[in-house]
Amino acid sequence: MPLFKTEAIVLQRFNLTESSLIVTSFTRDFGKVKCVVKGARKIKSRYGGRFEPFTCLNIIYSGKEHQNLYILNHCDTIRPFYNLREDYIRLTTGCYFTEIISSFTREAEKNEELFHLFFRALDILESTDNISVLIRIFEMRTIALSGYSPKFDSCLICKNEPKSKYINFHFQSGGIICGKCLNSSSPGRRITLGTLNYLKKVLTINFSSIDRLRFPKGQDKEIALLTQMYLKTIIGRECKSYKFIAKQEL
Ligand SMILES: [Zn+2]
Repeated sequence: MPLFKTEAIVLQRFNLTESSLIVTSFTRDFGKVKCVVKGARKIKSRYGGRFEPFTCLNIIYSGKEHQNLYILNHCDTIRPFYNLREDYIRLTTGCYFTEIISSFTREAEKNEELFHLFFRALDILESTDNISVLIRIFEMRTIALSGYSPKFDSCLICKNEPKSKYINFHFQSGGIICGKCLNSSSPGRRITLGTLNYLKKVLTINFSSIDRLRFPKGQDKEIALLTQMYLKTIIGRECKSYKFIAKQEL
């Protein structure tokens, strides 16, 4: 039986029997992977609490290629992200990131850049106080790295760079309609050019500079609503865990 070795971040765990778990993780090399972990629920399990969501592990698992369920043979913890479990906002944000990754990824579809984004976002989440900006960066970059990169630089109709105060963002195409081409029946959501410029920054800013980016009051809600509506258009439903964050944001 082939063996697979990779880094993995735990997304979900379910009890299978009195002693076993099914653990779903997002791996660096093989996309989403589901494994049975025998003996994980025993009191004296050698695995301890390693399968809590967003724990980062080195795993070795076995099974035939492209099957749905594998057997976990071995794992070591790389980063437990303990700080995320001791603070309500960080915990709910970590759960929200986990749900987003789960929605955007599939079995056997490698996306190494997305794996690195997920790890880095959890790493920053342990210490930053600028959590709402981190959430926007994570949402927009997950969207972009999953093949739905928004086209913010030119108008869908006239192809020019938008210069007027208001534009529309069209969710289905991920594009914008500039002020000159807008009319009362234009599709999409009206936003200001200022909001568009912040969204561009969210896509390009270096994670190490995150504490320098602050959204102005009022515009923060517009940015949050827009990214939420765009996410919902792509995955076809609302993220259940967002409601715990929305109380603070919207
Ligand atoms: Zn235009």
